[in-house]
Amino acid sequence: MNRKELSRKIIDTCLEMTRLGLNQGTAGNISVRYQDGMLITPSGMPYEKMTEDDIVYVDKDGHFEQGKVPSSEWQFHQAVYQVRPELNAVVHNHAINCTGVSILNKSIPAIHYMIAVTGTNKVPCVPYATFGTWQLAEYVKEGFKESKAILLQHHGMIAAEVNLEKALWVAHEVEVLATLYLKLLATTPDVPVLSDEEIKVVLGKFSTYGLRVEEKTACPCC
Ligand code: 13P
Ligand code: ZN
Repeated sequence: MNRKELSRKIIDTCLEMTRLGLNQGTAGNISVRYQDGMLITPSGMPYEKMTEDDIVYVDKDGHFEQGKVPSSEWQFHQAVYQVRPELNAVVHNHAINCTGVSILNKSIPAIHYMIAVTGTNKVPCVPYATFGTWQLAEYVKEGFKESKAILLQHHGMIAAEVNLEKALWVAHEVEVLATLYLKLLATTPDVPVLSDEEIKVVLGKFSTYGLRVEEKTACPCC
């Protein structure tokens, strides 16, 4: 896929993220791996107003095009690509229930087998740091060593996958898990969880199960 097509796909994914109720206003940002860096949404621009020309290329050293302002979170997007070479798309939002769990400073445990979309048995919650900082990017890097989705304390969530469709799918599934978890926490502090053994079985099945997207979108860079 060329740059223009990828940029269009980023904007469509942003619009779909809002349509799914995962985000509001200008919160959130989305990127895909591109050449030696990434293509990322601009900072503070409403998704409905975005055009392909607004999407910003940021290289591996953090240089970006003159006259464009990349998302304030480009450092944590870069951190995800550095720590997970197999992942090509990153979605960040302030989904209400994920953010709610993050305010309680809790990770989402294995309350449902769909936790396996993260590639592990939990959605870790990483410590608070001011948005748009290297400190936040460091925490994100640590979180992504464990899981394909994390919560950011007092902030929101991040999900990453091999392509944009799958990254948004993971983000949506995690918001469903967060919704469930908040409801359960309101009834008991001891929410039952699936065993590590069962999650291993489910992870095995997930190697051939998941959102099916066309092969041509599997790698967003070509
Ligand atoms: P940007 O508009 O700069 O991407 O910021 C949105 C956001 O969610 C910051 O965490
Ligand atoms: Zn944010």
